[in-house]
Amino acid sequence: MQLSNTQQRIDHVRRDLLKRLFGVTALATLCTNLPFNAAYAGVDSLKVADATPQKITEHLYLLAARGAWPTHENQGFFANIYFVKTPKGIVVLDTGTSVHIGEMALRAIKKQFNQPVIAVFNSHYHGDHWLGNGAFKTAFPEAPIYAHPDAKIAIENAVGAEWLEQMMKATEGAVKGTQVVAPTEGVTHGQIFDFGGVQLKVHSYGQAHSPVDIMIEIVNDKALYVGDVIMEKRIGNPSETSFKGYIKTLNIIQTEMPEHLLLPGHGKPGKGELLQAYQDIMNGIYDNAVKGVAEGLDISQTKELALKDPRIHQHAKSIAGFEEFGKFVSIAYTQAEMDAF
Ligand SMILES: [Zn+2]
Repeated sequence: MQLSNTQQRIDHVRRDLLKRLFGVTALATLCTNLPFNAAYAGVDSLKVADATPQKITEHLYLLAARGAWPTHENQGFFANIYFVKTPKGIVVLDTGTSVHIGEMALRAIKKQFNQPVIAVFNSHYHGDHWLGNGAFKTAFPEAPIYAHPDAKIAIENAVGAEWLEQMMKATEGAVKGTQVVAPTEGVTHGQIFDFGGVQLKVHSYGQAHSPVDIMIEIVNDKALYVGDVIMEKRIGNPSETSFKGYIKTLNIIQTEMPEHLLLPGHGKPGKGELLQAYQDIMNGIYDNAVKGVAEGLDISQTKELALKDPRIHQHAKSIAGFEEFGKFVSIAYTQAEMDAF
């Protein structure tokens, strides 16, 4: 029974992923007219240029990504990596899109802290957040790599290899040499890790951005690593989004951690303004989808309705990925229809 449930979950995750990846594949095909292998010949050096981690709070450091989307130029470094400095060593929150990015992060750790890596967390199974795991596994084989238990299962199965393949295409080979290294241990909601007095707490509220989101609270610093549950001035592909789950999770953050510094996987850290923007967008989309369904509007009429909503309108020009807005509405509409059924 357990096995068949697990298999069903994997199949579901895989189907969702394939749907989502179709867009990425089409984009990669458009971006290069070169055959797949020939495109790789243009890669001069796979080494990622060094960067200095930025101190954010007492224990927290940010290794900032270089752009909102994966390109050949940024070598796929489009998701942030965070370090938590503890008396026992360094804890790494997400590892980037390639082994080369992971190696660059390791060089930064050595230079800035000269402490070992004692643990790694992956926020979810999208490849920009864990494909750098291999670098850490090689350098610190004893350090556990924590994630949502279903993220571990999915990456160990088809999802891991598929993400690697897609990132190879999106960066035209800049992540070459990267291997799928899955998380080693599942974590649960409320779990607390104590690293010499610096405490990290796991928050997991079900599907929001993806089916396997976890957020990591750095308790001492009143900070929360939100992965892709909140991004700064960016929306990502919504194919795996649950709008009701999103709204629930954002409300929990607002109620339980109103003063926390929010650390996004994409964009700059911030406080309430990051949360407010995402609440505007997600509530704005879903409320209009519910209204559209109730009033018998079709999806394009519902999209027009949502675009006129001031909660959406005010962010439209400043948000990367807004061209995906129609997809958000269409998915929200389907979910609102199911809720009304
Ligand atoms: Zn991401």
